[in-house]
Amino acid sequence: MTLVGVEGSRVRISVPTRFMCDWVESQYIERLNDLWAIEGTSIEGVYLFVSGGATAASGASPEESHPAPVREKMAQDTLGAPLDPRFTFENFIVGKPNELAFAAARRVAEAETAPYNPLFLYGGVGLGKTHLMHAIALHLRQTRPEKHVVYLSAEKFMYQFIRALRFRDTVAFKEQFRSVDILMIDDVQFIAGKDSTQEEFFHTFNALVDQNRQVVISADKSPNDLEGMEERMKSRLGWGLVADIHPTTYELRYGILQSKADDLGIEIPEKILEFLAHKIASNVRELEGALNRIVAYASLIGRPITLETTQDVLQDILRANDRKVTIEEIQKRVAEHFNIRLSEMYSSRRARAVARPRQIAMYLSKQLTARSLPEIGRKFGGRDHTTVMHAVRKVEELKSTDSGFGEDVELLRRMLET
Ligand code: ADP
Ligand code: MG
Repeated sequence: MTLVGVEGSRVRISVPTRFMCDWVESQYIERLNDLWAIEGTSIEGVYLFVSGGATAASGASPEESHPAPVREKMAQDTLGAPLDPRFTFENFIVGKPNELAFAAARRVAEAETAPYNPLFLYGGVGLGKTHLMHAIALHLRQTRPEKHVVYLSAEKFMYQFIRALRFRDTVAFKEQFRSVDILMIDDVQFIAGKDSTQEEFFHTFNALVDQNRQVVISADKSPNDLEGMEERMKSRLGWGLVADIHPTTYELRYGILQSKADDLGIEIPEKILEFLAHKIASNVRELEGALNRIVAYASLIGRPITLETTQDVLQDILRANDRKVTIEEIQKRVAEHFNIRLSEMYSSRRARAVARPRQIAMYLSKQLTARSLPEIGRKFGGRDHTTVMHAVRKVEELKSTDSGFGEDVELLRRMLET
């Protein structure tokens, strides 16, 4: 079965044969309806179709039971992929790493004529490429519903092309794509090395650009770095605006977490958000996953969210995001935390305001790295190993007598921990 799309309150599912349609209809339709009802309260019914042909629908509207119009409608529906209604511009948090891509996507969504063709968005996995493409489509759907906007993955493009070949229907395939006003192809790296699909895509692409129709492409690499892509394709892809999305920064991650927590309507201690933003640096998808998991856990178990439960619940994610911490990172993080200059880590000043953080950094270096006391001493402005030893003892003593101090050190340790 193929999920064709969700349109308002209807779910449309296509199946390849009449027999399957009848079978699913008689055996599973209620269960499908129930499951969809759980997914979204606005869903009223599941509609089954034989792909490209007659229909059998549960509670079909009169329009649905006429094979001819349905067939036409189907052709349109199957061209693109469904959009995620949450992937709007409003829900996209902008920071240094993605500001160019965001601005370019907005411009494309608002422009009368294609401002750059194509818009090529690239970046690592989970950094918001698909989100921005959906945002363009959602915006256009609202502001200019007459425009024929099609979003689909390069993979789906390929499958449709292969299907068209199999059914000797390539003329219809070409026509469908060439009548699109704005075409967005996601994850174009997928068709690298797939020569005939690439060829077809190249022609579709050229036909659209020649008619000033907007094309938006995403990939995991820049056009030039796409291996298995023909030279002429690479050069054509780089013709318009190439905007890369950089890996997230701490600030962006923190902003995203805050906004998602707001959306979920859940109060999450600032320390936890800071902790997550520090530790889960891989991508936004994983960050969201972590937040959802903590929230689900807290609501199921009914206990408040603490650093301990967070660490417990996210063990696997945290381990995957682990990296070896260095003395330099520890010094930098501790200096930031106490708002002192990094150079105070090596300086000989003994004022408490700088000496204490320096001792904490030495303590953490001993705890979190495999460096020896003399090695650590050298990294702190050439101090003696006995100074480091003294620092370790002092911090341990303070931790046991002053709980606020202990918490501070613990937080730093968790943030840095490998
Ligand atoms: P990509 O297509 O680059 O692999 P996605 O667009 O699927 O990544 O993003 C992964 C998840 O992270 C989505 O749920 C998306 O909404 C979210 N996301 C990514 N970047 C941002 C951002 N800047 N603000 C809010 N959410 C984001
Ligand atoms: Mg994507």
